[in-house]
Amino acid sequence: MGSASTLAALNARIVRCELCPRLRAYCAEVARVRRRAYADWEYWGRPVPSFGDPKARVMALGLAPGAHGSNRTGRPFTGDGSGDFLYPILYDVGFASQPKAASRDDGMKLSGLWITSVARCAPPANKPTPEELRNCVPWLDEEMRLLTNLRVVVCLGRIAFDGLLAHAMRMGRVTTRKGFDFAHGAEYELPGRLIVIASYHPSLQNTNTGKLTRAMMLDIFRRARKAAGM
Ligand code: SF4
Repeated sequence: MGSASTLAALNARIVRCELCPRLRAYCAEVARVRRRAYADWEYWGRPVPSFGDPKARVMALGLAPGAHGSNRTGRPFTGDGSGDFLYPILYDVGFASQPKAASRDDGMKLSGLWITSVARCAPPANKPTPEELRNCVPWLDEEMRLLTNLRVVVCLGRIAFDGLLAHAMRMGRVTTRKGFDFAHGAEYELPGRLIVIASYHPSLQNTNTGKLTRAMMLDIFRRARKAAGM
């Protein structure tokens, strides 16, 4: 069983991380200037901790916080268009206690799901550099070790998929990336019985254009539940 206290301790270390000067400066500047619509918000402005159920069997692995979404609210996918798309689906599938994610004190609870990302600080233009992604890998490695019930990882976007495979290579689960191609809906079972499901990222760019629809995303999380034996 995943330990709530050790995962909470890990989150406490993550929020103090300063390894990427460019990202830390950007997040602080966004938090200082703010968007006019959120002028009365006190932005989080720090690395965003992971969120969810320490006993989770399913992980949703995203790319990075949004500058005015989770960099503002301090919780993954909370307070932006991606979260407005994603949380109602997580609610329908049974992972989330409510469909609306507004702030970190809105009462949302996750059951059976852990949400995290391959970079934990909002990057300019949503693009962390390869070095910044490398800096952030120890957090994912440790988190995966602590989530002892984990059976399925839903990778939201190609960068998350690449990050998960890089993790699997570091851990010796796989020795090559050959045969692991990113495509929406692709599913792989890694040695050690970890199932990986690839999905398009629920960015506005994908959801507003119909590249990723509600039905497609529902199908991904329903499959994840089933694959996790839930
Ligand atoms: S992106 Fe990751 S490694 Fe870089 S400062 Fe943020 S938490 Fe630390």
